[in-house]
Amino acid sequence: MLVILSGVAGAGKDTVRKELMNQIEGATSIPSYTTREPRADDIPGETYHFITREEFENKIKEGEFYEYDIHHENYYGTSKKILDEKARTGIVIKDIDVNGTEALKDTLTDIKVITIFLRVPKEELQARLENRMDRLPRDEIILRLNRFDYEESKISNYDYVLKNDNLEKTVEIIKAIIEYETKHGK
Ligand code: 5GP
Repeated sequence: MLVILSGVAGAGKDTVRKELMNQIEGATSIPSYTTREPRADDIPGETYHFITREEFENKIKEGEFYEYDIHHENYYGTSKKILDEKARTGIVIKDIDVNGTEALKDTLTDIKVITIFLRVPKEELQARLENRMDRLPRDEIILRLNRFDYEESKISNYDYVLKNDNLEKTVEIIKAIIEYETKHGK
């Protein structure tokens, strides 16, 4: 099963994902490939596989991605091989944007996919982005805020939409969703 968490940067996807992985036995995440620079809190091979543009474009040519997209001028893509290996047998929790989610839902026919969108009010998002540990540059904050309306316009594509105003509550709700979907899945 693949559990997709979407929502704008700063919506808390990463914190929620880590907490779910702590609390659900056997739940894992999988790294995407990206051409962006690693940040201080990145662990290569775990948060992402960091590769060059040229390497990424070769992988596109070889058909190695289920989907890929450009974000903030960098490529991001979901590896067919890595996803197949993990999602067929266990629960994979993955943070993917709205375009990637649409592409994956269309492509993955024999892996169960649950899509969850985490919402956060725009004013709160701005405050969170400005206070991030890794101190994003001003122009990156503006880029991300501009993406807010676009991402919000896609929420009707999601199975579940949650307001992420309390970590513990959000995690409990998602655990209940996963339990329900595991029992009543297609
Ligand atoms: P960040 O650089 O902040 O980790 O991620 C930037 C954006 O890329 C986020 O919106 C994240 O959801 C998206 N992203 C991460 N991995 C993938 C992927 O494999 N495919 C797509 N389409 N987007 C991704």
